[in-house]
Amino acid sequence: MEKVVILGTGPAGLTAAIYTARANLKPVVVEGMQPGGQLTTTTDIENFPGFPEGIDGTTLMLKMREQAERFGARYVTGDVVRVDFSGTPLKVFLDEGQTLEATTVIIATGARAKYIGLESEQKLMGRGVSGCATCDGALYRDVPVAVVGGGDTAMEDALFLTRFASKVSLIHRRDEFRASKIMADRVKAHPKIEIHWDSVVEEVLDVSRNEVTGLRLKNVKTGVLTEIPVMAMFAAIGHEPNTRPFKGILSMDESGYLVTRHTVTDIAGVYACGDVQDSHYRQAVTAAGSGCMAALETERYLCSLGG
Ligand code: NAP
Repeated sequence: MEKVVILGTGPAGLTAAIYTARANLKPVVVEGMQPGGQLTTTTDIENFPGFPEGIDGTTLMLKMREQAERFGARYVTGDVVRVDFSGTPLKVFLDEGQTLEATTVIIATGARAKYIGLESEQKLMGRGVSGCATCDGALYRDVPVAVVGGGDTAMEDALFLTRFASKVSLIHRRDEFRASKIMADRVKAHPKIEIHWDSVVEEVLDVSRNEVTGLRLKNVKTGVLTEIPVMAMFAAIGHEPNTRPFKGILSMDESGYLVTRHTVTDIAGVYACGDVQDSHYRQAVTAAGSGCMAALETERYLCSLGG
């Protein structure tokens, strides 16, 4: 039986791994479908302390992974499909049939991109519709593309896409951005970005050809419909937490985020950190900080058991 099993390898999970490994708890870290988490789909990270020139997400996560490994963290690959937290040991079931048993579990499974929810969007997924500009942006060179959203992710995606696309249409449902001022100002000043305020995507066009050729937009104030030619649409409208295996087992808020108090959940020995329990800050540095908190709570709990 393991002392600590950590679910997830984003900044929260890997910081928890560094701390618990240094405390000689030999954590087993479960690496899922997206090793390194959401940061590996981001471009230059300019706000993680210690990197004045910025650092790309994948490099940062590889460094954190190595750091945890150096102190004795072990990694297993798999997706968590089910957990049994009804008694001791705590059990985690992975998709390939492996079961991990542990005294404590740290949940750091993060969150994933949301989509608008249109049928045409669903049909054209991977054929011009994407939730990850940094993954797919380079496929659309010298053609027009669109980004939907008004938060920092939308700003970052729109700016990133200007490196490849001939033009970036940014579609936002209100008349002001939610994003930080510095990012919004960069977007507003960029000659390749055209902003469609008060607009929503009503239809992703050309389903019949099975690739995106345009969008039908609706102005929510005037009701006017327009069509814009684009070869890709990047949804950047926020995230939902990866909490499905914990439904009915751990307390969640109305959006499905785990409810914690200083990373402590309502089951003894189970902690949660990072975006899976934080719909408010959702920053790499706050995720890492909460990973540290979860590790310290875990250490104290194991000490209280005499282990
Ligand atoms: P977010 O801040 O929640 O913004 C989501 C945006 O999508 C909002 O503008 C929202 O519109 C819009 N939206 C939501 N549902 C929609 C729908 N169904 N149709 C159309 N538009 C919809 O999400 P985020 O941009 O992913 O950012 C998440 C967090 O990560 C934030 O705290 C952000 O600061 C942080 N972040 C930071 C950086 C950075 O600092 N480099 C980069 C990326 C993200 P409304 O504004 O009308 O609600």
